[in-house]
Amino acid sequence: EASQIPQRFLFYKPFMSSGMADRIIMEQELHKALAHQEFYLEYQPQVNLKTGNIESLEALVRWHHPTRGFVPPDMFIPIAEESGLIIPLGKWILETACCQAKAWEAQGLPQMKVAVNLSLGQLFQQDLVQMVKGILQQTKLEPHYLQLEITESMTMNIDQMTQLLHELKALGIQIAVDDFGTGYSSLSYLKDFPIDCLKIDRAFVRNIQHNPNDEALVSMIISMAKHLRLKVVAEGIEEVAQLAFLMDGGCDYIQGYLFSKPIAAEQLTETFQELHSH
Ligand code: C2E
Ligand code: CA
Ligand code: CA
Ligand code: CA
Repeated sequence: EASQIPQRFLFYKPFMSSGMADRIIMEQELHKALAHQEFYLEYQPQVNLKTGNIESLEALVRWHHPTRGFVPPDMFIPIAEESGLIIPLGKWILETACCQAKAWEAQGLPQMKVAVNLSLGQLFQQDLVQMVKGILQQTKLEPHYLQLEITESMTMNIDQMTQLLHELKALGIQIAVDDFGTGYSSLSYLKDFPIDCLKIDRAFVRNIQHNPNDEALVSMIISMAKHLRLKVVAEGIEEVAQLAFLMDGGCDYIQGYLFSKPIAAEQLTETFQELHSH
């Protein structure tokens, strides 16, 4: 193929080389970021539609770079994955989230679950189960207050995945399938995987008021989850009409800007303390 490309393009690949240079720089900066404490977590509430209570919070990592400013996770998580940094970063995220959940409990706030995203690289991490166990012991967070969010993926075989999830479940934690319906979905794994919860991706929820197909899909996912005795969270709820549809449809939890954006821990603490002082 290379022989078909005019020679001059082999010398000048400005887009590609600058892209690669950017990536290498970002990779180096990511390594420093962990040591320099440039990461922090925000938490987004998940609201129980029956009670109106916040029952859990999804931890979402944030990177505040000294000169670039805010770098979105969609941009740096893939680089962290490829460079292997996701292993120490993922550990830091889990420790920080569990520690924060325990701190809220100590401050007398109603105990909420904390949901932490696991990336693919972490699923392949040899000592993942030991690491989670160690963090639970160290932070003294009761295991059922931790939920791990995994995404469907075809890179790990079903048997391996089932085995791993059983080992994690044996610690007493909860497991959610994130971005449900967007990946390489195989419905058959739903019966084998020991999961507690499905999170319907925002892509399906976004147009439910306008698109009957999305409406049908969301209804189907909710009813399937009910039959499998799984809880359902709908992600990315921005409008009242979406909320109304989901309430009618029997969705268990919603998460989205309509209720709250992800917010810093301190701000959440203040909000809760205000709520409780009234
Ligand atoms: P995700 O796990 O599907 O997280 C949900 C994303 O949707 C978050 O984006 C959240 O801020 C956003 N979101 C929530 N409600 C709404 C809404 O109503 N409207 C819109 N437009 N967006 C909403 P965020 O924080 O930028 O994270 C993007 C992705 O980056 C996450 O998708 C996840 O795949 C990854 N990520 C974020 N934090 C972590 C982490 O701590 N660990 C790992 N492994 N991945 C993370
Ligand atoms: Ca998630
Ligand atoms: Ca998601
Ligand atoms: Ca996503």
